[in-house]
Amino acid sequence: MKRIVIVIPCFNEAERVPAVVDELSTQIDALDQVEVLLVDDGSTDGTLAVLRELHERYSFVRYLSFTRNFGKEAAMLAGVNWACRRNAAMLIMDADGQHPPAIARKMIESFQCGATHVVAQRGRADESRSRRILARVAYGALGRLVQVQLVNGQGDFRLLSCDLVAALSGMPERNRFSKGLYSWLGPPDEVIEFDPPADLELRRSRWSLRSLLDYSIDGVTSFNDRPLRLILLTGLAVGVASVAYLAFMLIAIWRNGVEAPGYVTIIFGVTMLGSLQLISLGVMGEYIGRILGEVKDRPSYLIREETDNR
Ligand code: UDP
Ligand code: MG
Repeated sequence: MKRIVIVIPCFNEAERVPAVVDELSTQIDALDQVEVLLVDDGSTDGTLAVLRELHERYSFVRYLSFTRNFGKEAAMLAGVNWACRRNAAMLIMDADGQHPPAIARKMIESFQCGATHVVAQRGRADESRSRRILARVAYGALGRLVQVQLVNGQGDFRLLSCDLVAALSGMPERNRFSKGLYSWLGPPDEVIEFDPPADLELRRSRWSLRSLLDYSIDGVTSFNDRPLRLILLTGLAVGVASVAYLAFMLIAIWRNGVEAPGYVTIIFGVTMLGSLQLISLGVMGEYIGRILGEVKDRPSYLIREETDNR
């Protein structure tokens, strides 16, 4: 059997991660081939102490800890790099119990039967209606804007073979949008459906609306330049429209002489153009900001503490 690393990003999960690891230990028989890497993403609630304890208790548990909160993408990247260094396949799951270890076990079983990319697709029955609608709108809009295929419900809970892990690890970009990167790798060869546990306490997401919005913008801008193109086209269309308007007005003036009305139109035109310009600048700014980020070439995370790499 091949080696598998289960990567679990943890941000303030002191209370919930032990239960996940306990259940993993009962679910996964062949633990001598499976390692669990817990990544502490700069938690402030004593998660690191819990991870140290888990490492003491279970020989298959390793951990590493960031100097501060770098975000889930950075934590996953640390896991990808770690698995890649060991030439292992990788399974990513959440620390908060929303990703059932029983499903992880099924995914590992399919991997052992030869699958190279297994995805767990969640139902959204447990989520509030507004969040479900938000998810649908976000996926719809992203799917249209981004030139990669995104599937609602297919997130980071997935297993990737050693080769795919190496490919991911070799993607040097700093502004990461993993859902897009996975899709870039190619479609999964197996999809396992699951419903997250209907536990109210689990519903609390650590993603605020703001961070979700940021993440969506990352998703669009890190995958293509379509928004830039869209702006160019809108600019052209507005330009043509305003020339037509000018011609229309000139004809009107030639026929009827100068009249005073048009105040509303002018104000509308000015504000509309102003807003278009601001949007354009904003989108350009997004890309320039990203270029700046890549050019600076800073690492995506900084590790403060980790179990010895054998
Ligand atoms: N997480 C992280 N860094 C962060 C935010 C979240 O490592 O800055 C981890 C978190 O501990 C959890 C996973 O990412 O294991 C998913 O987070 P959460 O449950 O808040 O998100 P959701 O369930 O809404 O996808
Ligand atoms: Mg969660």
